Amino acid sequence: MGFCEAPSPVGRFAPSPTGRMHAGNVFAALMAWLVAKSQGGEIVLRIEDLDRERSKPEFIDSIMRDFEYLGLTWDRGPYFQSDRTDAYEAAFHDLEARGLLYPCFCTRADLHAASAPHRGEKTVYPGTCSRLTAEECIERARKRRPAERLVVPDEDFAFTDLIQGPYRQNLASECGDFLVRRSDGAFAYQLAVVLDDADEGVNSVVRGVDLLCSTPQQLYLQDLFGFEHPAYAHIPLITGERDRRLSKRDRDADMEALRTRFKTPEALIGHIAGLAGIVGTCEPVALDELLERFDLAPLAGVIQVQWR
Ligand code: GLU
Repeated sequence: MGFCEAPSPVGRFAPSPTGRMHAGNVFAALMAWLVAKSQGGEIVLRIEDLDRERSKPEFIDSIMRDFEYLGLTWDRGPYFQSDRTDAYEAAFHDLEARGLLYPCFCTRADLHAASAPHRGEKTVYPGTCSRLTAEECIERARKRRPAERLVVPDEDFAFTDLIQGPYRQNLASECGDFLVRRSDGAFAYQLAVVLDDADEGVNSVVRGVDLLCSTPQQLYLQDLFGFEHPAYAHIPLITGERDRRLSKRDRDADMEALRTRFKTPEALIGHIAGLAGIVGTCEPVALDELLERFDLAPLAGVIQVQWR
């Protein structure tokens, strides 16, 4: 590779195996695939099974079969977050050794009472447990196993999203110190995703716009570990009735129902691509054809697409 060439993109599918895929998950995977493949890149498959209770082996199987059915191929993986505890542990101890963590004993009810949602986006942790003395921490740890929070700086973290445009967030005032380990001992999504993307060589992140406001936290973690920032493209959410985002409980938009309704992968992909406006109609379309005329421009600034 010449030194002026941009590295080819490494994107990822990062499904959580907590249910059958739905139209929104298919759209996210389709977009990740198109972004990577239209630039000669590759796709990594990562199974996000951090939540041991809700993750089920049968969903891992069905997700992989559904990707295959759709022709959404991956080049590496599957990697499993459940195999990565040692890496998360090491990073956690590194942050701890730098004095950046503190135990948090707040319950859900405490958090709810103490923080007002900010800009309708997320709740800001008010730093309650950062003010505990060492004695108070010892005393509380007798009764309750704490979660661990990462101290954030009073600094703006900014980036330009390939779809949503410029975005910035002051971590102290708009987010607050955030969890890197939960009170049940599970490592938090923010920590895991940053370590996974870096270790798997992912430099192109395509995912739902609901995660846009998490990205500044991830940029901060990447800076702490000395990782490069990936390029980000936050795609619109597919919403059902009353603008509610589709979830795995919407059975009429899950892969079982979609395969019955559309009969072929081309019909299903064409419908989703058409609804999102990346092609002009909802007619069946082959992936190769979509790849040839692929352009992110029609999605600029779009945060939601109505499911029909
Ligand atoms: N596992 C998450 C999901 O299924 C995606 C997280 C991410 O893309 O960073 O929604």
